[in-house]
Amino acid sequence: MLGVRHKFPNLPERISGLGELAYNLWWSWHPEGRELFKILSRTGWHLSVHNPVMMLHQLDQEVLSNAAKDPHFLRHYDAVMARFEKSMDLSSGWFCANVGDPHQDVIAYFSAEFGLHHALPFYAGGLGFLAGDFLKECSDLGIPLVGLGFMYPQGYLRQKITPNGWQAGACEIVDRENAPIRRVVDKDGNPLVVRVPIIDPPIFLAVWKVQVGRTELYLMDTAIEANTPENRLISDRLYAGNPEQRLRQEILLGIGGVAVLRALGKSFSILHLNEGHPAFAVLERIRELMGEGQSFEDAFEMVRSTTVFTTHTPVPAGHDVFPFELMKKYFSSYLPALRLDYQRLFELGTNPASTSGFNMTAFALRASAYHNCVSKRHQEVTREMWHSMWPDLKVDEVPIDYVTNGVHVPSWIDRRLGDVILNRYLGRDWLDEQDNPRIWELIDEIPDEIVWEHHNLMKRMLISKIRERARLKWLDKETADPNIVMASGVLLDPTALTLGFARRFASYKRPTLMLQDMERLKRIVNNMWRPVQIIFAGKAHPDDQFSKETLQRVFNAAKDQSFGGRIAFVEDYDEQLAQYLVHGVDVWVNNPLPPMEASGTSGMKATLNGVPQLSTLDGWWIEGYNGKNGWAFQGAEGENRDQLDAQAIYEILENEVVPAFYEVDKEGVPRRWVRFMKEAMKMTGPHFSARRMAKEYTEKFYSQSLLASIKMETKKYRKLDTREIKGDVFRHF
Ligand SMILES: *Cc1c(COP(=O)(O)O)cnc(C)c1O
Repeated sequence: MLGVRHKFPNLPERISGLGELAYNLWWSWHPEGRELFKILSRTGWHLSVHNPVMMLHQLDQEVLSNAAKDPHFLRHYDAVMARFEKSMDLSSGWFCANVGDPHQDVIAYFSAEFGLHHALPFYAGGLGFLAGDFLKECSDLGIPLVGLGFMYPQGYLRQKITPNGWQAGACEIVDRENAPIRRVVDKDGNPLVVRVPIIDPPIFLAVWKVQVGRTELYLMDTAIEANTPENRLISDRLYAGNPEQRLRQEILLGIGGVAVLRALGKSFSILHLNEGHPAFAVLERIRELMGEGQSFEDAFEMVRSTTVFTTHTPVPAGHDVFPFELMKKYFSSYLPALRLDYQRLFELGTNPASTSGFNMTAFALRASAYHNCVSKRHQEVTREMWHSMWPDLKVDEVPIDYVTNGVHVPSWIDRRLGDVILNRYLGRDWLDEQDNPRIWELIDEIPDEIVWEHHNLMKRMLISKIRERARLKWLDKETADPNIVMASGVLLDPTALTLGFARRFASYKRPTLMLQDMERLKRIVNNMWRPVQIIFAGKAHPDDQFSKETLQRVFNAAKDQSFGGRIAFVEDYDEQLAQYLVHGVDVWVNNPLPPMEASGTSGMKATLNGVPQLSTLDGWWIEGYNGKNGWAFQGAEGENRDQLDAQAIYEILENEVVPAFYEVDKEGVPRRWVRFMKEAMKMTGPHFSARRMAKEYTEKFYSQSLLASIKMETKKYRKLDTREIKGDVFRHF
């Protein structure tokens, strides 16, 4: 039996379940789970930055022994453990009741990033959080999904800004001992090592497990003795290095990933590729089937009909294209096993509109029967992008579907808002009923005062958090620079209208758009009676000089004395800071260059919490905006579109946002503003939740694909003439 290495030898027997609970991220979206650790030790919870594994390692034996004898603690412990154990049972839940057998119809979900918790820095942005939220929702619905990705020992990037505003890139070394992650061991208790099949010279993988409620996530890691020093670095960092390093990562993610699942004894019926990075998994599945005696064409069709592929961006850099020569270097030993020659392989990955190399998206589109975009608008753009693959069809017939992204509601809603206010006004079962729009209509029943008071609490908590971070910088000799401290938000005012702009600093997201006309912005910000402040956060990719310069411009504005401290740049945007921001700012600003934002999800996290969005009409906002729940502008065309778009934002701020926010009645409540807040919540819950999204993936793709897989199984036994299928498989090539 394979297993995971257990820790916490000091945990008394009576409360030994805390060990299992700490290693299951279930606590991260169940307030009662977090509460249990807080009752155990508030200080420990705080000092571990909300990470129970670290906390259990650090707590004194005495605290644990006392807890095991404390009737108050034990009562909580027993109640939470009972709920926890009950919710681990896979033989219950929506999938089991409506779709299929959760023990048989397993979906393998491959992704280069997973954003789950700040202690697991295996994400750069939205793609990762989408994957993380999806795993959690699959756990909630009992969708039998197993995740596969990388444990990047150096994480992504711990952001440090120098006094002159330059992003200095330090790595974020993962604290493996203290993160909620466990090494998978073999039957003798030794770390499991899996060899990547066929690829020569050999590469080996270690495996880690993250338990996400009922869902298992396995993460691969090449930093082991068995590998050459060069190969140890393959999984070193997320999105680092040159094309060759990326190709090596993607071979491991796809081909190694399937081998890891096999070594773990996990069979699966459906393969879901989250973005093109893991698409080589298709080849490994084909190779397996050919090993059972099938022809390439048969195997290809079988795999294709059970593969789902989600594409996430129209930005060209988001689609990997590998030079053919580089492909040859790594696939020379693999191809004979597929009985393919290079030409056939390369055809599968050729983008007819640009034949310069092996395009992972083109390959994934050909190798999947079900493929989708992440919003309605993204579908339109993607159909244009890939029209040349289906030249005989009209653009709006190109067979690429869409499932609009959603966010995991229990992960992103503020605990008090959910547990106290919504429980009271929407009913205790609101979370179970979250995709029912009628439940959310009850938001109107919440008194404005309660909504407003709660939001102000969130805002004060955000600003305290930011000031606390600034204070720690001031205490640290290395960062005790007045410029850094001033720019990081010490002068923020909890009564001023607060805009939030936080996301990856990628150029299409235009982080400096609001800074286009500094004089006009100063007038808006420094208005004596109706001040406005802006909180910026986000990381530039370490290799992206242009975006680092953009970040520097934002930082310089933040330390520009003439803004009076009303512009702040908060360092090191991560999951935890995102939580504070999406709960606590008054307006979430998003101004990408259309049509580059495939979906965008941070705005959904904000609107879920009653923070209306001001955004370009792009991505999800085209579906979300209804004129009552926030603000929108079209996005100009032509050369000076940035200037025009900036003007559009200033106008909305001056004429709509600022007046509505400061229009307060004699009870001190901005009624018109609270309407925006309520409409934002009413729209998000039913339409932009991960629940709606996961059900849609299941109904549109997984259940169809399961039917196909059953049909295929029967066909396999009928020994169908392969030529019959061949025509079908290559029809679209
Ligand atoms: C949600 C989230 C993102 C993605 O936000 P976008 O709006 O898609 O840019 C990025 N980073 C963090 C930390 C997040 O929580």
